[in-house]
Amino acid sequence: MKYYILFGPPGAGKGTQAKFIVEKFNLMHISTGDLLRKEMAAGTPLGLQAKQLIEGGNLVPDEVVVGMIKSTFASNKDVNGFLLDGFPRTIAQAEKLDQMLGEQGEKVDKVISLAIKDETIFKRIANRALIEGRKDDADPATIQNRIDTYHQKTEPLIGYYKEKGNYCEIPGEQTIEEVFSCICKELE
Ligand code: AMP
Repeated sequence: MKYYILFGPPGAGKGTQAKFIVEKFNLMHISTGDLLRKEMAAGTPLGLQAKQLIEGGNLVPDEVVVGMIKSTFASNKDVNGFLLDGFPRTIAQAEKLDQMLGEQGEKVDKVISLAIKDETIFKRIANRALIEGRKDDADPATIQNRIDTYHQKTEPLIGYYKEKGNYCEIPGEQTIEEVFSCICKELE
C-alpha cells in the first residue's frame, strides 16, 4: 500500500493536483478539509464542533482529524494507496500518522510539497471564494489567519519530513500542467 502526502499552504493547488494524481496513480484521495465540510453540511455534532474553528481560519483538534483518517484507512483496505491532502497539519498529527502506519508495517512513501509565496496564496484564495463559495475563503482576516497558522503550525513539518528523507518540493507557481508534470516525475 502506498501512502503519499500532498503538502502546502492553503491555496497552493493541492485540491486541483490531487484530482489528477489519484486518477493517474489509482489512489484514494483523502482531504480532511472535504471530510470536515461534509460533516458541516450534514450538521453532525462533529461538523458543528468544527464549523466555528474552520470559519475562523483555525485548525480543528488533532484527535478529530486523526480519528477521521483512522476510520477512512480502516474502511478502505482494498485500495492501491492513499493520497493525503491537508493532513497532517501539525507535528502531533504527523507523529500519530507515523505511529498508525508503523503498526501496520507501513510508512509515508513520499511528501510532495507545493511551494508558493504568501501574496499568491492570498490572491488564489480570494479568487476561489468567488468560485466555490467557501466561507473561510471570503474574509481577508480569516485568510490571513490561515496563512499565519500554516507558518506557525504546519510549516515545521517540512523539517520533520526532510529529516526522514521522503520530502520533495515543487514550485507551485507554474501552470497546473507544469506542476502536475513535476509531480508525475516524482511519483513515477
Ligand atoms: P482545507 O480544505 O484543507 O483548506 O481545510 C479547511 C479547514 O479545515 C482548515 O482551515 C482547518 O480549519 C480544517 N482542517 C482541515 N484539515 C485539517 C487538519 N489536518 N488539521 C486541523 N484542521 C484541519
